[in-house]
Formats: sequence, C-alpha cells, structure tokens
Amino acid sequence: ASNQTSIKLVLLGEAAVGKSSLVLRFVSNDFQENKEPTIGAAFLTQKCTVNDRTIKFEIWDTAGQERFANLAHLYYRNAQAALVVYDVTKPASFIKARHWMKELKEQSTKNITIALIGNKYDLIMDETSGEEIDGARKVSIEEGKQLADEEGAVFFETSAKTSYNVNEVFMNIAETILEK
Ligand code: GDP
Ligand code: MG
Repeated sequence: ASNQTSIKLVLLGEAAVGKSSLVLRFVSNDFQENKEPTIGAAFLTQKCTVNDRTIKFEIWDTAGQERFANLAHLYYRNAQAALVVYDVTKPASFIKARHWMKELKEQSTKNITIALIGNKYDLIMDETSGEEIDGARKVSIEEGKQLADEEGAVFFETSAKTSYNVNEVFMNIAETILEK
C-alpha cells in the first residue's frame, strides 16, 4: 500500500555482542540466554506504525565472525539503515564498532541512517539500587556518544535481555528515514 514504507536495515558488529538478540527482542519480544551463533546472515521482517504510517523493516542480521566479514558489504550496500553494535562490557567490541562506522562511511549509500548501539546494559546495572555496578562498564557513554557524533550517527545503550531501549532504536531509525 502507498501508506507503507520499507526500510532495509543491516546489523553489524563483533560476534556475541547481541545483534541477533536485539532482532529477536524487536521481532518476537523474546530473549534466549544461550543464543546459537548466526551463520552467514539471517533475514527477518517486522512491521510497526510510526506517525500513522506502516513501516516494514527488512532486517539483515549478519554474522560477526571474521570469515563472514568480507561479505558484509553485500548486506549494507543497499541498506537505508545500519545498527552498529558493541557490548558495553567489551572494549574490543567497541574498537570493532569504530571500524564498522568508518567502513560504512566509506562504502555505503551516502545518506544511510546509522545508529551506534552499546548493548548488554543490564550487565552494568544493579537492579535493586538502580545504579551502575562499579567497574562493570568498560566503554563510557562519552566514548560512545563521541564516536556516534563523529560519524553523524545516533547513539543508544540497550539491553536485548530486559528490552531496555530496543524499540526506541527502531522507532528513531524509522522517524529519521521518514523525515528524509
Ligand atoms: P550476535 O553474535 O551479535 O548475534 O550475538 P547473540 O545475539 O547471538 O548473543 C550472544 C550472547 O549474548 C547470547 O548468549 C545472548 O543471550 C547474550 N546477549 C545478547 N544480548 C544481551 C543483553 O542485552 N544482555 C545480556 N546479559 N546478554 C545478552
Ligand atoms: Mg548473530
């Protein structure tokens, strides 16, 4: 229908940061504690409504393993949106995210909408006190924001486990693309 907009979205990031889990949370509102790794890439769709418009997300969830990394361009080449994901407790995954942000800037469609995502927020939060657990966070909010700013991306911290900010990421992407 003319009232429907499709958004091709790709997820990029190191293995085990929670890319597939974010998609599972968004598409099925579910979480699996020991999710089996993605092989190659998975394709899923999810519809939602933003400002009275039906948005159909067409999601390419890529595998983080090195042996698939050289295939990633096949998925982001035609993407309108990308989620670059790292794990807030894993500095190496943030370095990898920086690499993906640069690669997207150089190789993807000029006006691609990018969100930088620091996932596994639940691992650094003490639920009872509502405060961060000392030393659990390994990537600061400032580092995340700065990288996102440098590349013209939005920045979110999320938890696929508790669903914290997951819908917000997809809604923000949809709103941004509708405004373009
Ligand atoms: P991917 O390789 O990036 O797709 O990562 P997966 O989605 O397969 O997740 C890797 C592991 O991290 C799995 O055991 C998930 O259950 C776990 N995981 C994913 N997201 C979160 C999260 O937000 N919090 C916690 N505590 N674990 C998560
Ligand atoms: Mg996966």
